[in-house]
Amino acid sequence: MKIVIVGGGTAGWATALMATKRHPNHSITVIESTKIGVIGVGESTTGYLTDILVNHGADFGCDHDEFIIETGATLKYAIKHKGWTNDIDDYYLGPIDGSQTKEATPDALFAYGLNRLHPKELVNVSQCGYWIDKGVSNFKKDTNQFANYRHAMHVDAVLVGKYFKKKCLVEKNARHIDDEVVDAILDERGFIKSVVLKSGGVVEGDLFIDCSGFSKVLMKHMPGNKWVSYQKNLPLNTGLPFQLKYKQHEVPEPYTTAWAQKNGWMWQIPLMDRKGCGYVFCDAFTTPDKAQEEIETILGQEIDPIKVIKFDTGRQDSAWINNCITIGLSSAFLEPLEATSIHSTIVQGRTLIFEYIKSTIDDTVNLGSQNIYNQRTRKMFDDVKDFLVIHYMGGRSDTEFWKYINTGVTKTPYVEDLLEMAKHRLPTSHDFPRYAGSAGWALYSYVMAGINRLNNANALTELDLAVPMHGNLRDITAQAYYDLQDEFAREIRNYQSYEQFINYFRKIRADRGLSN
Ligand SMILES: Cc1cc2nc3c(=O)[nH]c(=O)nc-3n(C[C@H](O)[C@H](O)[C@H](O)COP(=O)(O)OP(=O)(O)OC[C@H]3O[C@@H](n4cnc5c(N)ncnc54)[C@H](O)[C@@H]3O)c2cc1C
Repeated sequence: MKIVIVGGGTAGWATALMATKRHPNHSITVIESTKIGVIGVGESTTGYLTDILVNHGADFGCDHDEFIIETGATLKYAIKHKGWTNDIDDYYLGPIDGSQTKEATPDALFAYGLNRLHPKELVNVSQCGYWIDKGVSNFKKDTNQFANYRHAMHVDAVLVGKYFKKKCLVEKNARHIDDEVVDAILDERGFIKSVVLKSGGVVEGDLFIDCSGFSKVLMKHMPGNKWVSYQKNLPLNTGLPFQLKYKQHEVPEPYTTAWAQKNGWMWQIPLMDRKGCGYVFCDAFTTPDKAQEEIETILGQEIDPIKVIKFDTGRQDSAWINNCITIGLSSAFLEPLEATSIHSTIVQGRTLIFEYIKSTIDDTVNLGSQNIYNQRTRKMFDDVKDFLVIHYMGGRSDTEFWKYINTGVTKTPYVEDLLEMAKHRLPTSHDFPRYAGSAGWALYSYVMAGINRLNNANALTELDLAVPMHGNLRDITAQAYYDLQDEFAREIRNYQSYEQFINYFRKIRADRGLSN
């Protein structure tokens, strides 16, 4: 089977890498236009990227340490959400791993933490939160190896794409064309037969994967293609990326910062050599010039925006039509909050390559597979939409933008129900979507607590209700919390500080001439 991928960003090369290695009998052609370039603003990711590197790294020819060295990635244990309520200097941390009892009903440690701990100590019921609190990394002192891989990463998407490209192009079944796709030729059934290049060439294929980013170069030709906009629920539509340099010896934080502003929020993503930053806002409330001024005031320094990026939050109605499948920004974009873009790109790519692509075109392209893949993809993005919408429900009301949010117009039905339910009972893991890659209770819980949308008094009642089955869960949990702290403390004795981890990899990068 001939598979043609259009696009050489993270989506294109991650998909191509998985496809070449997993399907050595299919030929994989990647067409990218280096003149057009890729999006790459300093990206925060989820544990999914780490998982691919660690669990499939050997199969893909990737190595986690090498990835850090070559791309300048850093470890991410949480997101720090600042200014999302009317107390605009306040913040909360959302660790990426949730609590240690997150799969139980009730989530006993989290409930205990809510009711009994100071809000800033709540992170300590999570392992990643504990590491942040103690300033350690999960990188071992004695061996300079990772003790585990329970982290996510901050990355530069441009370098990630290059890393995957290098790994991909060593394969015999991989082919690379640097040219611009200017047209797609469809047969009478509406299937793509070939794509036409600016240079005049024509590339034929059986299956076409559109990883062309916001330009949706192939999908826009497909019969019945439709963009489902999420603007009503997620109204931000403009990004103003910029970079911040570190001061001498400054150590990056082990978390992403999502700092709410007057008309949206600012991301700060600490990479090895710089911070990737940007302001995402809604252009109905401010302009790029005013947005820049706003950020310069809050940071107390001038910034140099790289470009203005316009986007329409939403997804394809069908990510897969006939023999064309979209992956990456061409498939969906829901704004950068919670780092769901590269995450969902990898989920989509992995699902397609591992589960749906078969030996023959007939076993791969059929209406049943197409419909079920589309249902899964729609659900994943619609669920992410709910998760992002709830972040804005902290009641901040100091500007027209936040007053607009407070009218309730952006709420989805699920968010409405969840907020109402949370007044009466603590949600459990079963109240949230549960499938590979979903944002479950672990992530929702800290956000809802952070924006004061959980009824903390109910937290212990939940434990009391569980008494007939589990004994005195309230006492058991208090003990479990102290035992957990001891366990965490024992574990980190052999861990390097976060600063030592950074210095170790900074030195290797400098020795190899890779630092900026
Ligand atoms: C403001 C902003 C902030 C973001 N922050 C995050 C974040 O924190 N975390 C996260 O996970 N993600 C984030 N993202 C998304 C992330 O950058 C993308 O998911 C990731 O870079 C993958 O993009 P892509 O490969 O789909 O598209 P792109 O990077 O845009 O790549 C598209 C490719 O298609 C090629 N191409 C386009 N047209 C043609 C043509 N006609 N012919 C040939 N080739 C063509 C381009 O040259 C390029 O190679 C953010 C995005 C934006 C806009």
